[in-house]
Amino acid sequence: MEYIVQGYEPKKLFEFFEEICAIPHGSGNESAIAEYLVDFANARGLECHRDAVNNVFIKAPATKGLEDRPAILLQGHTDMVCEKNHDTVHDFTKDGLKLFIEDGWLGAKGTTLGGDDGIAVAMMMAILDGQTPHPAVECLFTVEEEVGLLGAESFDYSLVSATRMINMDSEDEACVTAGCAGGLRTDLAIPVCYTEALGAAVKISIGGLAGGHSGADVHRGRANANKLMGRVLRSLSKELDFNLCAIEGGSKDNAIPRECVAVVCGQDLSNLSAKADKLKIALTAELCAQDAGFFLQCEEIKLPNTCMDQDSTKRVICAIATVASGVLAMSNHIEGLVEYSRNLGIIRTAEDCVHLTLSSRSAIESQLDASIDELDALAALCGASTRHHSRYPGWSYAKQSPIREEYLAAYAELFGKTPEVSVIHAGLECGIIRSRLPRMDMISVGPNMRDIHSPDERLDLASCARFWQVIAHVLCK
Ligand SMILES: [Zn+2]
Repeated sequence: MEYIVQGYEPKKLFEFFEEICAIPHGSGNESAIAEYLVDFANARGLECHRDAVNNVFIKAPATKGLEDRPAILLQGHTDMVCEKNHDTVHDFTKDGLKLFIEDGWLGAKGTTLGGDDGIAVAMMMAILDGQTPHPAVECLFTVEEEVGLLGAESFDYSLVSATRMINMDSEDEACVTAGCAGGLRTDLAIPVCYTEALGAAVKISIGGLAGGHSGADVHRGRANANKLMGRVLRSLSKELDFNLCAIEGGSKDNAIPRECVAVVCGQDLSNLSAKADKLKIALTAELCAQDAGFFLQCEEIKLPNTCMDQDSTKRVICAIATVASGVLAMSNHIEGLVEYSRNLGIIRTAEDCVHLTLSSRSAIESQLDASIDELDALAALCGASTRHHSRYPGWSYAKQSPIREEYLAAYAELFGKTPEVSVIHAGLECGIIRSRLPRMDMISVGPNMRDIHSPDERLDLASCARFWQVIAHVLCK
């Protein structure tokens, strides 16, 4: 194999990373990469377990001289988010990624790179390959992290004997993560009745918003297209008589929606456009700088055959306009940390229902319970039903953490500065692992990456090299 990363150190780390990129490994499609890891372990005579969902667990005994050091668990996920640009031809189920290097950053042409979390896979492989001295290591490669931490959820933790752990699923070299939020998803289904559509139909489009990750970016003040649509429809409905024909917004429960489209019909919608323009001016003045591309457009379209009746229209608009979305509470203990939030991620119109998909996050279990109660209460008011699922626990900050201290000290010794310690408002597999192995002392770290989960994803090669040095330093101490 010819490597793009030729000349970059550590050689083996980058070569393993490039080999991973040649194997399709989107969420739910991890069998080929699991096979590759099993072959890798077998070729080196390492103890290896592969479970039914393709989680892989590989153990290596301590290097000579480090036998008396306690074992360490290293962990990352094998799956990647598959996103590509509209004009990119790429089949994530069979094509390898097309890598390139620009200004020291590694990327993939027109697609996500999967540095999240391929770099963890490559790091663990390089360590198992003996590229640096280490104590007994246990490496856990999990699947389907990106679609709800599913691999970590189903793994058999009785295989693990280590009591300290480094998760390598973070994206900022200058930061050591020491806690994360838990979360859950809710499908709220509002039953609707259809009737014959009359008059004229108008399509209302909201878009051009920045969006972002519903946890990591929730404090940045970016607007939610679904919520804006709820507000626009509610405001218009005070002065105009219309029925909702359909509403569609967002694509992922864990992304702040950037676009929402609603179709309405009515006997006299001649003023709708002018009223919407007024709202557009007001909203534009409220939005943050990153949402500068915001637009609100109305266009007359062909009248659909049916629309929701008056009562259904009202219940749907009220639910969307009312449901709380965004930051719900800040931490009382850690300044600036979002503690509790919710995201109205997706709105879909189906044959008999309008479905709202929401994601709630909190490091505190009782707040997640409260979110369930609140959404159930809203559902009761608008005649809807709820289904809460995919709940996962948070990882609460530990005041004392030897592995954290060792990592910080190693970084400081090598590079003369100490990384920041932070607790994040997003889910990590650490929460699940901690709930199964309550004695585990853990941190989450990683090299610099930017724009993960998008085709602009980039991995900083120099930062990877430093990250490798720090990990190697921690392992040989
Ligand atoms: Zn990740």
